[in-house]
Amino acid sequence: VQEKLEALKQNTHNTVNALLSDTALALAAKVDAKIANGEPIGLLEGIPFGIKDVYMVQGTYTTASSNLLKNYKSAYTATAIQKLLDAGAIPLVKENCDSFGHGSSSENTIFGAVKNAKNPELVGGGSSGGSAVNVAKDYTVFSIGGDTGGSIRQPAGYNGVYGLKPTYGRVSRYGLMAYASSTDCVGPIAKSIEDVRIVLNVISGKDIKDQTTYTSEAISEDSILNSDGIKTVGYFKNFIENDAIDAEIKTDFLNTIEKIKAKGIEVKALDFFDSNTLVSTYYTLAMAETASNLSRLDGTNYGNRIEAENLKETYAVTRSENFSEETKRRIVGGNQVLSQGFSDEIYLKGLNLRDEIAANFEHDFNEVDVVISPVTPNTPPKIGDSLKDPLAMYLSDAYTVGFSLGQLPTITIPQGTATGLQITAAKHNDELVLKFANFLK
Ligand code: GLN
Repeated sequence: VQEKLEALKQNTHNTVNALLSDTALALAAKVDAKIANGEPIGLLEGIPFGIKDVYMVQGTYTTASSNLLKNYKSAYTATAIQKLLDAGAIPLVKENCDSFGHGSSSENTIFGAVKNAKNPELVGGGSSGGSAVNVAKDYTVFSIGGDTGGSIRQPAGYNGVYGLKPTYGRVSRYGLMAYASSTDCVGPIAKSIEDVRIVLNVISGKDIKDQTTYTSEAISEDSILNSDGIKTVGYFKNFIENDAIDAEIKTDFLNTIEKIKAKGIEVKALDFFDSNTLVSTYYTLAMAETASNLSRLDGTNYGNRIEAENLKETYAVTRSENFSEETKRRIVGGNQVLSQGFSDEIYLKGLNLRDEIAANFEHDFNEVDVVISPVTPNTPPKIGDSLKDPLAMYLSDAYTVGFSLGQLPTITIPQGTATGLQITAAKHNDELVLKFANFLK
């Protein structure tokens, strides 16, 4: 714990929001005492972890890397985090991320851009960039990220670690600051499938504080050590056969297909929606939901209030001064697609497309056991570049957002030399995802 806190302290500028040193050291001392007394300790007891700064942890600052919540202290603890604390894991740090989860590079933050673990000139990915970099650099053993449209999987891919977005509802969202509630997922980033499995088991479960949660069984170590149940693997042809995909990513992917075939598994090419449809459907719904979710941040109950002549002005100034450009773009876009005259044409169309995407997945998973895809069409950009072109940044989410709309379990694993591989299974089949990840290792 001490060592990791030191390492984090020296890298605060890049990857860290706030260290939880006192708590961590006190908890570590308790575990040491237990060990010294010869008392047994649990699987996660004493294991240091990081927390994306969108989770409530009572008494700590929870800023969502935003100016608006710069001074906001959580009044309670998120369910997933509480479960980890109950299991004896030690929280080290609240981690830098794109503000409110808005972004794919961890540059939309008041704490300075997160630098990639492999090459500091490149972005760390987003929005859970600080979490992925901390794991890659061994500053934390695992981190809890948040994934609405790729924010665990993409930074995991950019930094060469594992990142799981569980099935929507497997892990409670209570205490996760809402971005787009219908796709927000809580999941681990770690250095091995085994660590992902252990953490997932601890954080999963029904929670009366989140009505979308369901009861799931723990995934056993043995159940993922074989390839039972995986006979056919699918991939989306149009993700690979297009001009936008980076050559190295394509080569990695084609090599993976050969590797799978060599293991005696059938690989099927599938038809899927094009990138423009996926990205526009996702961003229509995500912006609508974030506009609604963030409407509570007006300086009255939470955050950094800026007083003006009257209440209405106070709301306006508080929001326009404190939200970043990217967040404002989404609030304006979201309110537009929800407004009279636009909602039928845009928002409802988005909802319909989402149903079609989900139906497509249901159909596919009758034919194949898992779907594989690259994580991103592009390798990590240089720090500064994505801010110049928001549309290009949205399009770089093309391979992650579809699985979010489908609420499916998806993992990123390191594979090849570029940005890793995504493995996806049917809803509630998180076990199969881990199993295939282990098989491909
Ligand atoms: N990059 C996507 C977005 O900005 C996904 C973010 C996320 O999953 N939080 O919406």
